[in-house]
Amino acid sequence: MSSSPTLGKILPCIWWPLLLVLCVSCQAVGMARGHGPLFFNLGYAALAVTLFVLERRFPHEPQWLESDGQFWPDLLHTVLTKGLVQLAVVGGATFGIHLAIGERAAGGFWPGHWPMAAQVALGLLIAEFGLYWAHRLGHEWPWLWRFHAVHHSSTRLWFFNTGRFHFVDTFKSIVLGLPLVFAAGAPGAVFVWISGITAYIGMLTHCNVEMRFGLLNYVFNTPGLHRWHHSTDLREGNSNYGENLMVFDLLYGTFFDEARRPPVRIGIAEAMPATFAGQLRAPFVWHRYQRRAEAKPEEYFNP
Ligand SMILES: [Zn+2]
Repeated sequence: MSSSPTLGKILPCIWWPLLLVLCVSCQAVGMARGHGPLFFNLGYAALAVTLFVLERRFPHEPQWLESDGQFWPDLLHTVLTKGLVQLAVVGGATFGIHLAIGERAAGGFWPGHWPMAAQVALGLLIAEFGLYWAHRLGHEWPWLWRFHAVHHSSTRLWFFNTGRFHFVDTFKSIVLGLPLVFAAGAPGAVFVWISGITAYIGMLTHCNVEMRFGLLNYVFNTPGLHRWHHSTDLREGNSNYGENLMVFDLLYGTFFDEARRPPVRIGIAEAMPATFAGQLRAPFVWHRYQRRAEAKPEEYFNP
């Protein structure tokens, strides 16, 4: 039995806002009850399971459902590099502060009297400035690109490779993103919110679910915009650097969206080793590995 045509048109428009609102609501309930980290993790796990199901039921690119042989590297990057760096740095700076010394009071010029939603929006905007430049430099500085190339070497997008980042790349983004918010005097709860929303939007951004975004594209980093960002064509790929918000892409002229389908074939021009250990090492011995790829292409997974 086929889905009704009306539902088929409505569902792609509501998935993205619906899933984000549900995740944010889950975190709000947790924080109101003093269990912010627990409810964040529950929301994150539920989002992963939901996207796994939706990707199989409503895929954007059916071709991306096929294995690329990168399950273990993706998982290990998520847990051992991105996961650990994030836990150590963000955990220390956000959940750690929140739990160990209690609510960090708003300081400096921070408008602590604003409603929390407005404070979180301000925090996201300030963090975005650092995250935008961290990401853009990761593409435009060749030495930093080698680390970011690990993430872009994926030949398909799905929720599971959201965490496929070299630890140096993750560290760079955090170091450029969060201190600005800290210096602005944001309270601990704002850090918890920024971390949660960034994680939720990050996973949604990489999902392979057929969705429509409309005007949301001009505010948030959506899967539709991010698929252009993973294009092998640099006129499309060197764009849409926003982590959560698109304001700085619009401001600096790096916003890219066209009324056609983003490419199915995504990835990088350079060679990337097929193993997790090789991918960790590759940025440090970049040229040697590029030469080696010509002699031993079987050790490299990206075509
Ligand atoms: Zn990128």
